[in-house]
Amino acid sequence: MKRGSAPILAPVTSRSGPTLTDGAARPPKGTPKGDDLDGETDVLLERLGELQEVFYADARRSLLVVLQGRDAAGKDGTIRRVFEPCNPQGCQVTSFGVPSTLEMRHDYLWRIHQAVPARGMIGIFNRSHYEDVLVVRVRDLVPRSVWSKRYDHINAFERMLAESGVTILKFFLHVSRDEQKERLRERLDDPEKNWKFRAGDLDDRALWDDYSRAYREAITRCSTPWAPWYVVPADKKRARDYLVAQVIVAALEGLKPRYPKADEDVLAAADKIV
Ligand code: ATP
Repeated sequence: MKRGSAPILAPVTSRSGPTLTDGAARPPKGTPKGDDLDGETDVLLERLGELQEVFYADARRSLLVVLQGRDAAGKDGTIRRVFEPCNPQGCQVTSFGVPSTLEMRHDYLWRIHQAVPARGMIGIFNRSHYEDVLVVRVRDLVPRSVWSKRYDHINAFERMLAESGVTILKFFLHVSRDEQKERLRERLDDPEKNWKFRAGDLDDRALWDDYSRAYREAITRCSTPWAPWYVVPADKKRARDYLVAQVIVAALEGLKPRYPKADEDVLAAADKIV
């Protein structure tokens, strides 16, 4: 991406809603290929590293990156690759699994709010409060009368965060049925990967269409100007990382982070070093 050029992915609008067909999991037109893809991704990631450093020093805002996706969609891989150039001191990853007993005794946003990044920090959510309108809906963990109110809660919560200085970017890593099958099979066959496999992954796969419905509604209703959703074609891992990095770099560039001006004491200290 040349500096100032727009990312390939656009936020989902409530008018169009997301396209979640198998075809939509392939890289979109305009995505570079081969060596170009690697080269452009390297440039983007180097820029991300620079931006993260100044964003941390600036400390006026925080960035929250929400990653959602079906099993084996590549949430872990995206985190590993895209945030590799960032200083770990300025990044925090939070994974949201089945709520603990303590978490269950609170409202569903309680654990989420505690993990929202402080100013200067980049927070990455591996799954998120959206599970409360996804798995919770699909598996009937609470009645419809409870989960159906959550879209409005979530929009209000995210708006409050945005108005408090949190820039929010939400990514749905969209894989096709065939690609998920391939990856789950690979997981089972590979002794270094099968620890990730849960029997529940197959149950969720059998509920593919129910999850598609739940994702479509969550993404459509909760893609807002203050917290947009992006559907990332994720069948090709290198293209996926490039597309996500593009959006993050453009958002950080747009915030125009700057190093704070040194105050008088700091400037004077330069003369006192012996
Ligand atoms: P991968 O995508 O790589 O397979 P994962 O994200 O599935 O990894 P796990 O720890 O195996 O990681 O799974 C987390 C599980 O917790 C998911 O099945 C998810 O649906 C579930 N979960 C998360 N939040 C909630 C929630 N609020 N209520 C019920 N289940 C939840």
